[in-house]
Amino acid sequence: MLDDRHNPNHPPASSPQDRNRWPLPIHEEQTRHEPPDIGDRLNPNRRQTTREDRERELVGGFSRTSSMPWFSWSIPADRCRVGSRLWDIEGSVCHGCYARTRHYRQKNVMKAMERRFAKLNDLDSWSESMIQLLRQRARRFRPTASDPWPAFRWHDSGDLQSREHLLAICRIAEGTQELILADGSKQDIRYWLPSREYVLVGKVLRQRTVPRNLCIRMSAHKIDGPVPLGLGLPMSSVHTREDRYPDSQVCPAFQQPGGGCGSCRACWDTEVRHISFRRH
Ligand code: SF4
Repeated sequence: MLDDRHNPNHPPASSPQDRNRWPLPIHEEQTRHEPPDIGDRLNPNRRQTTREDRERELVGGFSRTSSMPWFSWSIPADRCRVGSRLWDIEGSVCHGCYARTRHYRQKNVMKAMERRFAKLNDLDSWSESMIQLLRQRARRFRPTASDPWPAFRWHDSGDLQSREHLLAICRIAEGTQELILADGSKQDIRYWLPSREYVLVGKVLRQRTVPRNLCIRMSAHKIDGPVPLGLGLPMSSVHTREDRYPDSQVCPAFQQPGGGCGSCRACWDTEVRHISFRRH
């Protein structure tokens, strides 16, 4: 799926300029300034394994966007089950999807997304590794007033592949609650999962509840179209008319410096029922 804002829900780009702006570009494997890992001091000939090497090996690596907080994890948009059917439909949010153009077509980015996708072949191993690696990352997260908890974004490109995939994501959310962060505070990692897979998500909801730190936000299929009310989950949409969704919260990213989330974390907040992204 191509999902919301800096992603799937996001408005389809209508020009190369738009595509740069919406969604926000991903800087593959770009890391923040963190202390280096300590290598094997007893055997200096052994190659030092970096944190990123290990993450690549176990889960295909994380991605980061310049506009969103913390980390993301993405797979190829070509693998979207519903999204790929919407791609050719004029007026759908996936028409001209940003995640099938430009940056996402670069060889290294495509390679990284396919590497991650391959990890889904063994969901037990993938989910266990995700829990372990995210806990390690969270230990290094230092909360601030504008960035109060680790905010993880699922699928800035791509969407859920199966019921089992979503169940594994639920296990990851449950396995990353009440973690001690770098300042000694105890917090959950919080997840935003945009999806157009209404049927698949509905099946999981009949089987189990959603973890408190996972915000599954169902994305509307058409620009200015009906919103997915059926599952009772938070939603997102894309609008061209300011009065289209009077009860929604409009994403403020386009008004903020750099066009990013800044201190907004509405997409991660299950109390925010409907977020709408303005199509540029
Ligand atoms: S609504 Fe807030 S959290 Fe969601 S994409 Fe926009 S700025 Fe980011």
